[in-house]
Amino acid sequence: MIVVSACIAGVACRYDGTSKLNENILKLVAQRKAIPLCPEMLGGRKVPREPVEIINGDGEDVLDGKACVKDKNGNDVTQEILEGVKEFLLTIERLNVKMVILKTKSPTCGYGKIFNGTFKNELKQGNGVLAAALKRKGIKIYTEENFMEVYDKF
Ligand code: SF4
Repeated sequence: MIVVSACIAGVACRYDGTSKLNENILKLVAQRKAIPLCPEMLGGRKVPREPVEIINGDGEDVLDGKACVKDKNGNDVTQEILEGVKEFLLTIERLNVKMVILKTKSPTCGYGKIFNGTFKNELKQGNGVLAAALKRKGIKIYTEENFMEVYDKF
């Protein structure tokens, strides 16, 4: 069993109430090979909600208490994000999940690249808070951009 970011499985849980459906990921869910989870919703964030970015760092820094996650208006949502990450980790532990497919760019799910904290739609290298936490646990991470490389293994 693998877990996938819920929005790429078609769940309308993004900040603006939309999804980023990827038909091949939805197929994995339909075949009961994957479970969709949204860490931000697990942390109590609502839909729709203000978009957030990691300020002055990346997911690793947030886990280490050196950076925070804020919305455009400066509201700090770090605790909600960390709570959602904690719930996500508990769930995959219960399900004995060793592999995930995450949505790129997100301050939570993003793996490899994330928005840079300026709210100008600019990216930088780094991982979101969930991706950083999963990496620390040794979970294998793919994204919607490269999971087809291993699709046959699911
Ligand atoms: Fe939820 Fe992650 Fe998708 Fe954002 S990228 S909507 S946190 S599943």
